[in-house]
Amino acid sequence: MDISFPVEKIPRIGPQYQKRLKRLGIDTVGQLLYHFPHRYEDFSNLKKISEIKAGENVSVQGKILDIKNIRTFKKRMFLTQATLEDETGTIKAIWFNRPYLTNALKKNDLVFLSGKAAPKSNKYYLSSPAYEKISDKRDPIHTARLVPVYPETEGLSSRWLRYILQPLLYQLKNRIKDPLPEEIKKKRQLLPLSQAIWQIHFPDSLILAKKSRERFCFEELFLIELRALKERMKLKKEKAINVPVDLETIQKFVKSLPFQLTSAQKKSAWQILKDMEKQMPMNRLLEGDVGSGKTIVAMMAVLNTIKNKCQAAMMAPTEILAKQHYKTFNDFLKSFKVSIGFLTGKEYKLNNKKIERKKLLEKIEKGDVDFLIGTHSLVKGSDPLKNQRTPKVKFKNLALVVIDEQHRFGIEQRAQLAKGTSPDKKLIPHLLSMTATPIPRTLALTIYGDLDVSLIDELPKGRKKVITRIVPPEKRKEAYGFIRKEVKKGRQIFVVCPRIEPSKKSHDEILTEKDFIEKTSDLYEVKAVKNEYEKLSKNIFPDLRIAMLHGKMKTKEKEKIMKSFKKGSTDILVSTSVVEVGIDIPNASVMMIEGSEKFGLSQLHQFRGRVGRGGDQSYCLLFTDIPGGIYFRRLRALLSTDNGFELAEKDLEIRGPGEIFGIRQWGIPDLAMASLKDISLVEETRNAAREILKKDPELKKYPLLAEKLKEFKERVHLE
Ligand code: ADP
Ligand code: MG
Repeated sequence: MDISFPVEKIPRIGPQYQKRLKRLGIDTVGQLLYHFPHRYEDFSNLKKISEIKAGENVSVQGKILDIKNIRTFKKRMFLTQATLEDETGTIKAIWFNRPYLTNALKKNDLVFLSGKAAPKSNKYYLSSPAYEKISDKRDPIHTARLVPVYPETEGLSSRWLRYILQPLLYQLKNRIKDPLPEEIKKKRQLLPLSQAIWQIHFPDSLILAKKSRERFCFEELFLIELRALKERMKLKKEKAINVPVDLETIQKFVKSLPFQLTSAQKKSAWQILKDMEKQMPMNRLLEGDVGSGKTIVAMMAVLNTIKNKCQAAMMAPTEILAKQHYKTFNDFLKSFKVSIGFLTGKEYKLNNKKIERKKLLEKIEKGDVDFLIGTHSLVKGSDPLKNQRTPKVKFKNLALVVIDEQHRFGIEQRAQLAKGTSPDKKLIPHLLSMTATPIPRTLALTIYGDLDVSLIDELPKGRKKVITRIVPPEKRKEAYGFIRKEVKKGRQIFVVCPRIEPSKKSHDEILTEKDFIEKTSDLYEVKAVKNEYEKLSKNIFPDLRIAMLHGKMKTKEKEKIMKSFKKGSTDILVSTSVVEVGIDIPNASVMMIEGSEKFGLSQLHQFRGRVGRGGDQSYCLLFTDIPGGIYFRRLRALLSTDNGFELAEKDLEIRGPGEIFGIRQWGIPDLAMASLKDISLVEETRNAAREILKKDPELKKYPLLAEKLKEFKERVHLE
């Protein structure tokens, strides 16, 4: 057996458990060993029974004198009661509702019991202690030591994991090869794998547990950095179509705009255009707060590409947004004679006219379409009507791909688009990704380490700061009155709710410990679009025009609703977070967010950015039904700053990177996620990765590391 051994071949792991492990993404013994505890129960305090003090966490060893189940009358509960004896005395232990314990523990068994010593008159008893029979063949794992506690998934208890992991660790003791190069471990004083893997599960001391954790944090981040740097090296070897700057066209375009570009916009545009003059493919992230005007910057790059007789393409994360971009590009580029195509799963257009999909694809391939805008269907090319995958879009000479909201698309999509690019398949397009999510430096260095970054760090002039208020339950009525006034002034209102339908509180959905805690603490009701829509349109604002929008609606319907809101025919739009990205409604002046504590700061900041785009004073109202406490403090951060970066840093502190950047599903191991907050560790691992790659770019001298990196790439998708 080695670490690649599949878990289903381990005799102790039955089919039920195999399924549960799969659900956690654990297929191999190696992955199981990398399922780390998140804390330890300290049962290392081994005492004689006579020495026990009230309230302390202790372990005792002794013989069971008797054990029996008692049924309590009042509460209809099972009590299991045992008496344990050592050479200094006896102590009672009590468990609730675990009648099966009398099968596991019998009279005269030698056992460890670990738990809290609760006082009872002038004696003590152990309340629901952990138990374990004493064996001379192996060390205790549930008691009498630092006991690992794992993040629990339904049906996968810490006790079970300990029972499985200990024998595996014994078996593999000298067979796990360490992927970290010796010199790196030496320089940073990291524990060797064989010791660390043991100590992280069954530590001899908290110091060793910490040291082993440090080692694995380093390892995970190191792999992420290696991957990013290697990706960058790979890209350096590729070639793209070089697109020279057509200054005359750019000048003409800038003059045609109804506003002055900000200097940050100009600077970013310059960096992009300069990148595209090179043979090496651009890989640039354009970062800028909501409303900072990223689209115009991208448009300059697109126009320049077209003027050089090359094609450009743009992908947006939602159909609504793709539509909006299509309109914007058509409007702004009207006088430049470009042909712009539109392609989503169901809709195909060329120069604002409907066209058959087949025709559009032909024209793209012939080069008759200069610029193609769409959703992910640009790369997926699926035909939902026929429910089959049709060929991907083929271009004649695609030189630039723009991806809006980067963290949903990325490098792999470019690779796919590139496949259908030019007759000379060796060229790959330049890539510009855009995001309004401010990315803290640690993250930029790690997960986006292969990107160059342009930053639009100023908003267009004349934007008024959005006034932000927290609205506790008692102020709700007042807030509704305010909203009514705004509508009377001709303004429009966004209402955002955390979910579409009221929660069913189904227990099947509970998958993780975090889920569980959230769901069980749902003492109040999470606001849902459907309910709020009903309530607002029937009871609160029966005289106003209210619409609802959410992700489960048909595309046609969604469009109709957006169109009507854009036109001003709807006063209030109740929706889920679909309004988060990119929607541009200058007449909207109030962003009202229900259950605001359910959202992260960065996300709330994005919502807020949906208003304040016109000339009028705008407002962001953060409704919350649980005033006070941690949530309140968090929301207050939004009142104190409108700087997206500051908020992202705060968010990173509070929630960790997984939730904020939608990278939870990437499969980055939890440890690495947690350590992404640690800038010095991130820098250290980056330097280490650089050193190694400089010496040995192909990792020829480090086969174990190369193998680990390959496995990591398969497991973690940085998209
Ligand atoms: P985002 O960066 O959030 O994608 P957009 O590109 O959608 O922002 O721009 C938001 C709005 O600001 C659009 O209506 C756009 O036309 C306008 N805009 C862009 N640049 C400027 C500018 N320099 N001055 C004034 N308005 C601008
Ligand atoms: Mg945008």
